[in-house]
Amino acid sequence: MANIEIKLNQNCKPIPATDKLGFGVHFSDHMLVMDYNLEKGWHGARVEPYGPIQIDPSMMALHYGQAIFEGMKAFRATDGNINLFRAQDHFQRFNKSARRVCIPELDVDEILAGLKELLKVDHKWVPSDLGTALYIRPFIFATDQFLGVRPSHTYKLMIILSPVGAYYAEGFNPVKIMAEDEYVRAVRGGIGEIKTPGNYAASLLAAVKAQKKGFTQVLWLDAHELKWLEEVGTMNIMVKIGDEVITPPLNGSILPGITRDSTIKMLKSWNIPVAEKQISIDEVMQAGKDGSLKEMFGTGTAAVISPVGSIHYKDSDAIINNGKVGELSQKLFDEITAIQYGTKSDIYNWIDTVKVP
Ligand SMILES: *Cc1c(COP(=O)(O)O)cnc(C)c1O
Repeated sequence: MANIEIKLNQNCKPIPATDKLGFGVHFSDHMLVMDYNLEKGWHGARVEPYGPIQIDPSMMALHYGQAIFEGMKAFRATDGNINLFRAQDHFQRFNKSARRVCIPELDVDEILAGLKELLKVDHKWVPSDLGTALYIRPFIFATDQFLGVRPSHTYKLMIILSPVGAYYAEGFNPVKIMAEDEYVRAVRGGIGEIKTPGNYAASLLAAVKAQKKGFTQVLWLDAHELKWLEEVGTMNIMVKIGDEVITPPLNGSILPGITRDSTIKMLKSWNIPVAEKQISIDEVMQAGKDGSLKEMFGTGTAAVISPVGSIHYKDSDAIINNGKVGELSQKLFDEITAIQYGTKSDIYNWIDTVKVP
C-alpha cells in the first residue's frame, strides 16, 4: 500500500475521558476503506473521515449475510508508541473467514500497512490508562445490488477504531454461566469456526434466555450430542482439573481464538500441562462436585481472560474456587497484558510497534 490516499476529517470529535469509554460505543475520527471488483481486485485503499455510508436496499450482505469481521487491539506502550497485538495472525484468520464464505482474500502485508497508516492518523485515540485499549474492527461485506443467492462480485472493506475502557475496572468479577441444552451455536462443517455475522445472530436467543435466568454467559455444548464443551459466549473455554488445563480441540465448530493460542503457548512455556481434547459437561460437573475442578475461564480479545465463578447445568450447579479468581487465571491475565502494554519483553514476537508521529 505504497500510496494510500488520506482525506483528513475537518470535524474531529473530542476524545472521551478514559473512565467514560465503555466497550464499542465511541469511534475515532477516521476509517480505512477499500473496494473489490472483478476487474481491479482489491483496490483504492484510503483513509477517510469516519461517518455514515450510503448503501442500496438490495445490497446482498443485508439479505444473505455474506460478510466477515475481525476484532483485535492496539495498546499505548509505556514509551508512548502503539503496540499492535498479533495483527498478522488476525488478518490471516480474516482471510480464512473470507475463503469460507467466498469473499476474495486480501494481501495480509498490504492490509496491515493500511491499518498502520490509519493508526498513525488516529493515534490520539489510543487511550493510555492501564486496562484501556483501542479496539480494531475490520469487516468486509458483499455490495452487489441483487436479490439472488450467489457470491457477490463486489465488496467493501472497512476498518473502524473504538477506544475501550478497562474491562475489569473494579477488578476481576467471575461470571456465572449456564450450559445451554436446547439451542446450539454451530455445527461441524458449518461456519462456527469463522467470524461471520450469522453466528452471532444464532447465539442471541440463548444469551437472552440465560440472562433472564440470571446468568451472564452461555456455555455452548456441541450440536451433535449436546454433551461436549465448545465455547463460552464469544470466547474459547478452558478448565483446570487437577493440575491439567483442558480446552476443546479445534474440530470445525469452534472459533480458533488468538487469545486461546496465546494462552496455550504461555502455559507450555511454564511447563503447565495443557491438553486440547474433548471434555464433556458431565465430567466438568462431576469435577465440580469432587473438588478437582480448580479453575475455569474464557479467553478472547475483549476480556483477555474471563474467570468463571459457577456453572449451571440442568438442575445442578457447580461453584468454582468459591466464586473467586483462580491463581492461574490471574497469572495468565497479568502476563498477557504485560506483553501488550510493553512492560514485559515480547518473547513470543506478538507485538508490532507503530511509531507515533
Ligand atoms: C472472536 C471469538 C473468540 C475469541 O477469539 P480471539 O481471537 O481470542 O479474540 C472466540 N469465540 C468466538 C465465537 C469468537 O467470535
